[in-house]
Order: sequence, then C-alpha cells, then structure tokens
Amino acid sequence: MANPIESAQGLNVDQSELQKFADLAHKWWDKNSEFKPLHEINPLRLDYIDSHASLSGKKVLDVGCGGGILSESMSERGADVTGIDLGEKALKVAQLHRYESGVKVDYRLISVEDLANEAPESFDVVTCMEMLEHVPDPAAVVRACANLVKPGGKVFFSTINRNPKAYLFAVVGAEYVLNMLPRGTHEYAKFIKPSELSSWVRAAGLDVIGFKGLGYNPLTKVYKLNDDVSVNYILQTVK
Ligand code: SAH
Repeated sequence: MANPIESAQGLNVDQSELQKFADLAHKWWDKNSEFKPLHEINPLRLDYIDSHASLSGKKVLDVGCGGGILSESMSERGADVTGIDLGEKALKVAQLHRYESGVKVDYRLISVEDLANEAPESFDVVTCMEMLEHVPDPAAVVRACANLVKPGGKVFFSTINRNPKAYLFAVVGAEYVLNMLPRGTHEYAKFIKPSELSSWVRAAGLDVIGFKGLGYNPLTKVYKLNDDVSVNYILQTVK
C-alpha cells in the first residue's frame, strides 16, 4: 500500500501549505503560540455549532482538524467525533493530546475526498474550519463534505473573505503588525468570498442557512461573533 503522504500527492492538497502547519505542529496546544487565535475563537465557534446542531450524541466529522482544538471540544460536548487531516505531525499531536485531556476522538490521516468515497452520508454534522483557504480546489472539499453528511445534517465552514479589509486584517494586521501569525500563513488570492462559498455549497446540494462574522478587536484583543462577514466568517448549511 502506498504511504499516505505519497497517495496524498495526487490529491487536492498543497504540500507547501501542509508544511507551514508541520513546522508549527509542536505548538498546537500552546495557547500563547501561533495557534492562539484558534484557541481564542474556539469557544465562540463551538457554542455556535452546538447551538445549531445539538452536538451531544451526534456523529461529527471535523475536516482539517489539525491538532484537534475543535475536535476535542466537540467531544467534550458529547459528540462522537472523527478528525481528519493530511498533516501527519498535527495528527500525531492530536492523538497524543487525547491522553492529556482524556477525550475520545478518532483521528485519521485521510483526505476528505477519500473518506467521502469510503463512508458517504455517515455523519450528522461536518465541520471544516479555517481549512478551505489552504487547499488548491476548495469547491471539491465542499462537495466531499456534502457527500459525507447525512440528509438533514448540518455542515459548517469557516474561512476568510477576499477584499481589501480582509487583506489588511488577516494578512497585514495578523502577520506583520501584531505578529500573531507567521508571515506567509495566509495567501490573499486563496481567500474566499461568501458569494463564492455559497455557490459551491449550493452546487454541492447544501442549502445556506446563514453567515456569521468573526470579528477581532485589536485594541481589546477580544473576538466576537457578529454579522460582519468582511474578514473571518462561518457559514452554516444543511443537506
Ligand atoms: N480546523 C482546525 C485547524 C485549522 S489550520 C481549526 O480550525 O482549529 C488548517 C489545517 O488544514 C491544518 O491542520 C492543515 O494540516 C490542514 N490542511 C491543509 N490542507 C489540507 C488538505 N488538503 N487536506 C486536509 N487537511 C489540510
């Protein structure tokens, strides 16, 4: 059998994107590291997902789960969580961290497209957060997520909008002024407009329920969910 990374090379993956996360992998659970923003937004997105999808008892797939920040927290809310990623190091960190936190999450090194072929319509809820802006063909990831969710199930996406304000906040502000993220973490051209994501979602057979903005106030350093989708945003959909 081919090793997973070899088989990943023909897939919808950008190795340089995976490498960015591999270089930082040992820091996934360091809340003061480059992953601080993900730790800080996690309670907000978790509450949003839980309030719209009632996680307890649900079979949930977390696509591009990284070190497991969202996966673990959904498991703590009583969901039966599978986390997938093509970053081997991130998954190792995620697997080890389960022992520290005592949560049960099933982590797998598999592409979302392969899992969609293997287990279509087998999840009540699918989450795909902060990942679409790192893949060559995000619409294909959206299609795979739509295949994986059961009819009536919810799929949540989050990503970064593409406009001058998003460039200013997500690239210049976060990477160059506040040094929250390593330079080169995000590529402006890969950012995704809500209209683009909506059209991919609808073409994949999902209905748009609504958008939420994820705002950051650099002065108070506080994140909030709001209705301003101009930078970071979450999209809730249903099949
Ligand atoms: N969803 C997590 C992590 C976001 S970071 C969270 O929000 O907390 C982006 C993640 O996407 C990284 O773990 C990276 O390894 C993963 N990734 C990038 N390209 C990918 C691909 N083509 N397939 C699967 N995972 C990918």
